Amino acid sequence: MRAIRDRLRRLYGRPVSEPHGHPIAELVRTILSQNTSDRNRDVAYGRLRERLPTWERVRDAPVSAVADAIRPGGLAETKAPRIQEVLRLLPAVGGRPTLDWLGDADRDEALEFLTGLPGVGRKTAACVMIFALGRPEIPVDTHVYRVGGRLGLFPERASFETAHDEMLAITDPEDAYELHINLITHGRRVCRPQPRCRECGLRRMCPYYRAGRFPGR
Ligand code: SF4
Repeated sequence: MRAIRDRLRRLYGRPVSEPHGHPIAELVRTILSQNTSDRNRDVAYGRLRERLPTWERVRDAPVSAVADAIRPGGLAETKAPRIQEVLRLLPAVGGRPTLDWLGDADRDEALEFLTGLPGVGRKTAACVMIFALGRPEIPVDTHVYRVGGRLGLFPERASFETAHDEMLAITDPEDAYELHINLITHGRRVCRPQPRCRECGLRRMCPYYRAGRFPGR
């Protein structure tokens, strides 16, 4: 894993984590990003915050108002009630939903709480932990799953749960963010669904390549 980290670092640099400290925002953004582009998610999120600027207002608004706000992100009739349900399940302080306690919570308890929320899977929980709170997690999205499987970081047909667990087990905590970002970059640029193995800087350490499974061999 360290050799892969170093090779990716040479290719793509060393991204630095800057946790933004807003776990509810990360949670809502991740729900909004399901089945849509980053751009549409951002438009939907911006409209939601503009029309309903506090989380208690989002929670307590008519569901149609939330759906109207997030419509550019697609699946508004599904995502709006889900966002409101999640907000209702969060602990409230002075009537305001909060997830600030996650920063100091035991990791397993934090993940258990997050994945117990409707529509929140392991990847979403990991996004909240790492992007909002700077806690070491590697969200396994489709890029990380594809690249990590080919590189033999976990069995290629492992469940996403297993992939999460195995990635975290073999990653130094301080490298989690960097590896997450650089594996995604590698998956977008080189190790695409049709991998460009001949131009890949990782091919000598890649079981998929060494097994001769790359296209155009
Ligand atoms: S050698 Fe091919 S399969 Fe392996 S990481 Fe590079 S692009 Fe992906």
